Amino acid sequence: MTKIRIFVISLLAVFAASLAAQQMQPLPLDPKVRYGVLENGLTYYIRHNQEPKERAEFHIAQNVGAILEEDHQDGLAHFLEHMAFNGTKNFPDKGIINYFEQQGVKFGYDINAYTSLDETVYRLSNVPTTRAGIIDSALLVMHDWSSFIALQEEEIDNERGVIREEWRTGNNAQRRMWRKSNELRYPGSQYAKRDVIGDTAVINNFTYDALRDYYKKWYRPDQQAIVVVGDIDVDEIENKIKTLFADIPRKENFGERPIYEIENNAEPIVAIVTDPEASQTQLRIDFKKDKLPKELQLSMVGYSMGVVNNLINSVMNERFEEISLQADAPFVGAYSVYTELVKSKDAFINIVVPKEGGELEGFKALAIELEKLKRFGFTNAEVERAKTNMLSSYEKAYNERNNQKSQQLAREYIRHYLSNEPAPGIETEFEMVKMMLPQITAEVVNQVAKAYITDENVIIDVTAPEKETVKVPTKEQLLGAIAEAKNAELTAKAEEEASRPLIAEKPKAGKFGKIKENKEMGTSEVTLKNGIKLIFKPTTFKKDEIRLRAFSEGGLSKVKNIADLPSATMATDIVTSNGIGDFTATELTRALTGKIASASPRIGKYEEDIAGNSSVKDFETMLQLFYLYFTAPRKDDNSFGALMNMYKTVLANAEKNPNKTFSDSVQVTMSGNDPRLVLVNLEMLDKIDQDKAIEIYKERYANPADFTFIFVGNIDPNDKATQDLIETYLGGLKTTKEKESFDKVYNETPKGFVKNYFKREMQTKKASNRILYTGAMPYNINSMVHMNAIGSILNIRYLESIREKEGGSYGVGVGAYAVNEPVEEAAIVMQFDTDPEKQERLMSIIHQEIDEIVKNGPKPEDLQKVKENMLKQYAQDLEQNTWWSGALEIYYKDGINRLKDYKAAVEALTAESIQKTLKQVVDQKNVIEVVMLPEN
Ligand SMILES: [Zn+2]
Repeated sequence: MTKIRIFVISLLAVFAASLAAQQMQPLPLDPKVRYGVLENGLTYYIRHNQEPKERAEFHIAQNVGAILEEDHQDGLAHFLEHMAFNGTKNFPDKGIINYFEQQGVKFGYDINAYTSLDETVYRLSNVPTTRAGIIDSALLVMHDWSSFIALQEEEIDNERGVIREEWRTGNNAQRRMWRKSNELRYPGSQYAKRDVIGDTAVINNFTYDALRDYYKKWYRPDQQAIVVVGDIDVDEIENKIKTLFADIPRKENFGERPIYEIENNAEPIVAIVTDPEASQTQLRIDFKKDKLPKELQLSMVGYSMGVVNNLINSVMNERFEEISLQADAPFVGAYSVYTELVKSKDAFINIVVPKEGGELEGFKALAIELEKLKRFGFTNAEVERAKTNMLSSYEKAYNERNNQKSQQLAREYIRHYLSNEPAPGIETEFEMVKMMLPQITAEVVNQVAKAYITDENVIIDVTAPEKETVKVPTKEQLLGAIAEAKNAELTAKAEEEASRPLIAEKPKAGKFGKIKENKEMGTSEVTLKNGIKLIFKPTTFKKDEIRLRAFSEGGLSKVKNIADLPSATMATDIVTSNGIGDFTATELTRALTGKIASASPRIGKYEEDIAGNSSVKDFETMLQLFYLYFTAPRKDDNSFGALMNMYKTVLANAEKNPNKTFSDSVQVTMSGNDPRLVLVNLEMLDKIDQDKAIEIYKERYANPADFTFIFVGNIDPNDKATQDLIETYLGGLKTTKEKESFDKVYNETPKGFVKNYFKREMQTKKASNRILYTGAMPYNINSMVHMNAIGSILNIRYLESIREKEGGSYGVGVGAYAVNEPVEEAAIVMQFDTDPEKQERLMSIIHQEIDEIVKNGPKPEDLQKVKENMLKQYAQDLEQNTWWSGALEIYYKDGINRLKDYKAAVEALTAESIQKTLKQVVDQKNVIEVVMLPEN
């Protein structure tokens, strides 16, 4: 407690002393939220919000999780979460999923839940509020999830298989190491024993009562909050909640919900864990801290502590980034964050990813940086930069105060309930931050940051692959490195000079042509004097956002020499990491302090583009970035060296992960062994040439007039100032008359029946499966809509047959689409993991479900659900800048009009048309299966 007091006092010293008492009271909740607690202890948060319109969010947060399980219940908190979708009092069997999917609310997307060690949260999202009775039904689901989950024996037994497969899919090196590491990090604590997914022996054998006991004991109104945010009447919802939840009694006989502690430690705890399939080494130093008491967390003090911690995180990470962008850096990446460690403790967490063979050296470098922080703190310039950035992001959030998404708000209230995070509303937050920041000087930040680095309550943690060339440091070496850092002779970081403008001399402006209105899309079209085509779509969905996307046909298909493809594939990564104009990447980040503007180039198989966005205020900066990406990529041996080191480290052990072997095999097989295919691996890194990459980049972006520029957001093409800026930076680009299209140089998808079954060693035995159906199909809105519907229908089928009936897989991923590059074609792709014993059976079900639709058409109820969901999603999409950006691209590129034709195409879907379309694909008999099985 004393440490907390010192901290609080140091922070309070910042503010006027007379206000201190008030600053220690919980901050009032956002006045736009209706908050209350029922007599039985149930908490609720209700808020009207119209983003999206005619939709609402219904969440229930349970302040309980796997940490509360007894040994014979290991994994049952999560099991219970699954059972909530397998029958409740008012929605027997799959009633919840069925009812809501009929309203277009999709399971796995809009209907979902998660369980962690300390919390369990369920949600129904984007529920259409205009349907009769649907609000009552959503509240009834909350009611049932609160206390009326059926837990029928047959359903419990059916779900054991699903959870077993979820365990299998997730039981990778990372999870295994996390579990072992927790055992060492938290000796004697409950946190050493629980991992959410649980013990498979328990999953297979637990008694029904073990689950029911957990449910009865921990799902109780005094640990639950209902959150409803959306296009609803707040009074009405409040009344309904009061009536509906009145039948749930307060549960007092089970006592307090315990908060499990982790012990303090005087000497550092060292946890070293390795795994044969680990693909990366990570070393970490945590400094455990006591939490503020709940009231303080929710107060002005708690809020300002959060602000200071954010500043510390961002300066530390800026320092790490600057180091790791040097070719001779002692590590490839490092990261610091002050955050909750477990429910009862926070921690200042510092992570480093070393170069292979330089593990100890990387850890030493981390220890040195922490020692520098402790001895010298941050410079004024560093702290001021972080403050400026923070203020701009608050300002942007404030500008968007009327366009906050309901789901985001719901999550904020859940954090208020579960994690004591203040939620006073963005208006108040912006005011507070404006008031606080001038007072939070480098001195204050340093006082707090220095206190984070202590000798006690230290946990050192190493996770690494088992491999000769990985030199895992010993405990003695790790402790030695820290001792060494303490005695090292160090110098403080110097203050840097002020930044310079992005573009010193403005280019010679080129004029706007005549603006043409496109009535069909509500766009304005202009060609600049230099031939660049501009499309404007002014929208009001966001107040402070302008998106810009420039795209052009060509891409990697224009690279003739196969030997150049590795360089071409990495070209945009190299250019981005080298910086642009006269700026290294680090200098560029500095020059952009306080600005909200970005641009990033990407070269795909058949096109290249630059995508960016900005606040209204920083529109010019975004245009400058576009200008520089077109005109001034730079060579930088230092950055290039650092980037290659980073890739080398990431890829050195990538092959140890069975999932990497599988995805490489999938790519090779599906490309028909295309010699142009570039697999990202160590071998490929050796073939990258910086000069070549920059040369290819310049070639791809040589003629801006071959690009179409689409502006979406708060922009007016008739505004003189906007036109001036565009004329300067885009009109000022040099162009040519050359037009490009892509080349058909890649293999087409292999025809006929192709099977690639292979084996490899693995720690957790599983079969990984990928299936691809393809067939020629004309590219138009009907094909697109039909294929998307087929994908969603199959998704429903596999959920029922493979997941629920067979308990055979955690889930089958399905995608189905129509494309026109390189040829007009339809594709359906499925992927799933399963028990090797069941592989053959499940593979046959995959094909059977498709054959069934070809033979008899889809089930009418499946089709109806899918149509509802597509129409509901479409209505939401129409209010998104990102959707418009994509829709305008395919309109101007391919002549497909989603705005005019999509809804009609969905409404026209019939069982017969689906059947016919799928038959057309299946009849062409092009099926690829790639399957990876365990060795022996
Ligand atoms: Zn699960």
